Amino acid sequence: MSNNYVVGFPRIGEQRELKKILEEFWAKKCSFNEVKEVASKLKKRHWNYQKNAGIEHISSNDFSLYDNILDTSYMLGAIPKRFSHLKNEDLYFAMARGNKEATACEMTKWFNTNYHYIVPELSLEDKYTLDASKLIEEYLEAKKLGIKTKINLIGPITYLGLSKRVDGGDCYELLNKILPLYEELLKKIRELDDDILVQFDEPIFVKNLDDKVYSLIKYTYDKLAKNSKVAVITYFEHSKEATNMLVHTPIWAIGLDFIYGKKNLDSLEIIKKSGKKLIAGIVDGRNIWKNDFQMSLNILDDISKTVKKENILVGSSCSLLHVPFSLKYEEKMSSEVKNWLSYAVEKLDEIFNISQKFLEKDVCQKEFEANYKANQSRKNSILIHDKDVLSRVNSLTILQRDGLFEERIKIQKSILGYADLATTTIGSFPQTSELRLTRRAFKKSLITQEDYKEVMKSYIDECVAMQEEIGLEVLVHGEPERNDMVEYFGEQLKGYGFSQNGWVQSYGSRCVKPPFIYGDISRAKPMTVEWIEYAQSKTKKIMKGMLTGPVTILNWSFVRDDIPRSEVSKQIAVALSDEVDDLQNAGIKIIQVDEAAFKEGYPLRLENIKEYESWAVRDFKISVSKAKKQTQIHTHMCYSEFNDIIETIEAMDADVITIETARSGNELLKIFKKVGYKQEVGPGVYDIHSPRVPSVQEIKKQIKLLLEVLPKEQLWINPDCGLKTRKDKETKEALINMVEAVRQVRIELA
Ligand code: GLN
Ligand code: ZN
Repeated sequence: MSNNYVVGFPRIGEQRELKKILEEFWAKKCSFNEVKEVASKLKKRHWNYQKNAGIEHISSNDFSLYDNILDTSYMLGAIPKRFSHLKNEDLYFAMARGNKEATACEMTKWFNTNYHYIVPELSLEDKYTLDASKLIEEYLEAKKLGIKTKINLIGPITYLGLSKRVDGGDCYELLNKILPLYEELLKKIRELDDDILVQFDEPIFVKNLDDKVYSLIKYTYDKLAKNSKVAVITYFEHSKEATNMLVHTPIWAIGLDFIYGKKNLDSLEIIKKSGKKLIAGIVDGRNIWKNDFQMSLNILDDISKTVKKENILVGSSCSLLHVPFSLKYEEKMSSEVKNWLSYAVEKLDEIFNISQKFLEKDVCQKEFEANYKANQSRKNSILIHDKDVLSRVNSLTILQRDGLFEERIKIQKSILGYADLATTTIGSFPQTSELRLTRRAFKKSLITQEDYKEVMKSYIDECVAMQEEIGLEVLVHGEPERNDMVEYFGEQLKGYGFSQNGWVQSYGSRCVKPPFIYGDISRAKPMTVEWIEYAQSKTKKIMKGMLTGPVTILNWSFVRDDIPRSEVSKQIAVALSDEVDDLQNAGIKIIQVDEAAFKEGYPLRLENIKEYESWAVRDFKISVSKAKKQTQIHTHMCYSEFNDIIETIEAMDADVITIETARSGNELLKIFKKVGYKQEVGPGVYDIHSPRVPSVQEIKKQIKLLLEVLPKEQLWINPDCGLKTRKDKETKEALINMVEAVRQVRIELA
């Protein structure tokens, strides 16, 4: 008997084949048929991987050419008006990426992952019609290969919960418009085959929802599961409230995450009573560590004290989309470390082995032994444990910098002497392909360190000269030596590992390759000082040092799971505090500690927010705890919604915070005034995501909007974010306009 279940599988391909063919297609270098051929090949390969691993419940419709939420919009005919004249792939990709006439649909993060989905745009007056062709084709494609799949769908409640209403109003008002389409779809599915299992992903059930939304659950699944075999899957947290409703509907199974939602254990009793199947997510779909088989088995045994064993399916905690594909291409990693890891393909075997052992005690002996050994080797490895790090982190007495803001800012202003509305940038300047090639060549030891440094330093020379010419007041070195704001630090910190092929889809064809933290973190030597010091030596103006903060480093890495995240974060903070000290001792007077991912690390459940905030703030403060009163600390955050978290931002106690507000006027700045925020603020005055150069007038208008909310003494003027992805010409023109706008506003204010 089989009793295992995979929620979903990555689609980008083990060699990122999908990425490559899509980008060729977009560049008009191949036909759409060729894209479809590659897609078919990938689907077939992915199904076979799962089948050969002994997985019983394999999905179709988890594949997508861009994103499953976009697929759902397409399926429901939820097409924004500006695209309504388009068809087929032209329509599909235009919604995702925009075209000459129309801007793309918005894209946003999928819960607390780094995957991004295309936000549906709905409206009461739109007519929705079903197009089930993609999903039916995919099901039949698998069937032809002899694999009877379950069909994955985004559940209607999650779909609506993630949508926006272009005509204002609540998306859930549209439930009765889209439910009939889902019912029609289920009817079509029933006509395909008997007994097809339909999986509805409803991760929104793990959030704290309004009672009104909970009340829709029974209504919806009474209808959807009336004549179909339905599994409702939740993940990333517990979904206790929704489970209470779902057990009273005719669904066949409930999927719960026991990795990130331990409180799901409280739901076992009602699941038992309902007699439903339980898909128990116990293999982590979001991290890369080998499962601990014995521990998983213990959890399953525990669960089976309540829910009957024959009703339990052993599954992944969520879709395996969030982990890299397969370890087989990791050739450079030390075999010791590699043996601790498990990517999507390896997780299939884990799910299979655990599921078999759960049924019959005397199978998979060999696999269990190997798993035990691997986990023991990780537990005991000297690569992981560093006594010095622990003793330092545990005996830390200085947790924050000296002096109150009011006192510090007086000293800083007198030393630094910057004017009101001081101009600066967020750190990176446009990266040229020469730069990227040089970094790569250096990594592969194709050029010497001296040659490498020379190229970087000449970039810094030009960058500094350009900023002086533009007339900016606080300069940056431009970050030429950094490929990525986390990887750059990870590469220099002990305790960090890197993969060769650990790509994870971020959006569409874009993938990221997060580094992973496997051991105690420490800094062997200064990481940024040489570059910043060099840049400072090239100008009399103030050079801002540039670091990535502990919470962002943590949130953009795969993190070890053997100690709490808060401990890892603290270790990073301590390492960074030494860097801050070295920078100020080298004469750097302003240091920016970026926390781009501070907000995205927020827990999904309200009840966990306090805890996150307390250590996230603690660690930011530790990272700057050695800053002297006269050293000005900046931080930068890539978003603008601070209404819920303003007190936490305040508590971080940075002297200056630069934020992303250009697209929202001064609306979102008002909260800073409302709470009497004292520290200085640099709200972005133009959007850096587009190559368009904003005019002086436009920027002036934006600055005046800011001045309606905060006094000039409290404001800095800067772009929204780093300029890395922009071109030289547009960057220079935009910054010249920004500086000119400030000059004019200053005259008007004088
Ligand atoms: N200092 C970084 C840069 O300018 C900040 C980037 C970010 O916050 N995403 O590139
Ligand atoms: Zn940013």
